[in-house]
Amino acid sequence: MKRCPACQIDIVDDSTTYCEPCGFDFVNAPSTSAADGRVVNSARQSGIVIGGIGFLVLVFGALRWNSVGSQLARELGQTDGLGILLLLGGGIGLLWGLYLAFATDPAPLAAPVVPKSAEERIRQLNELRSNNLISDVEYEQQKRDIIASL
Ligand SMILES: [Zn+2]
Repeated sequence: MKRCPACQIDIVDDSTTYCEPCGFDFVNAPSTSAADGRVVNSARQSGIVIGGIGFLVLVFGALRWNSVGSQLARELGQTDGLGILLLLGGGIGLLWGLYLAFATDPAPLAAPVVPKSAEERIRQLNELRSNNLISDVEYEQQKRDIIASL
C-alpha cells in the first residue's frame, strides 16, 4: 500500500507506476525537497567523515615524519615514502572532506527585498530627471509623495 503524494489517495497495488485518479507518475516524479535535503546532508556527513580520516592520516604522517626513525632515514639519504604518502594522502583527504562538507551548502536564500529608503528613492528620482526620463512636474509630484511617506 502506498499513498499518492498528489491526491493523497491510498493505492493498494504497490507495483502501480502511476495514480489512476489523478495520473501522478510515481516513476518520474520530481524528488521532493525533503529528499533533496537528505542528499545534501549525506554529502556533508561523508565529507566530515572523509575530512576526519584525512586529518588523522595527516597527523599520523606528521608524527612519522618527525619520528627518529624517519629523520635518521632521511639523513642517510633515503626517502620516507610511507611518510610522504601519509602526508599527501591525509592532506588530500582533509581537503576533499572539507570540500564535500562545505561545497554542498544549499544556496543561501535570496536576500529579502528591503524597501528603498526615501533618500535612495529621491536620488533615483534625481537621476531620472537629469536623464530627462521624467518631467519636472512628475519629479515634484514623486518627490512630494516620498517626503510625505516619511
Ligand atoms: Zn493521485
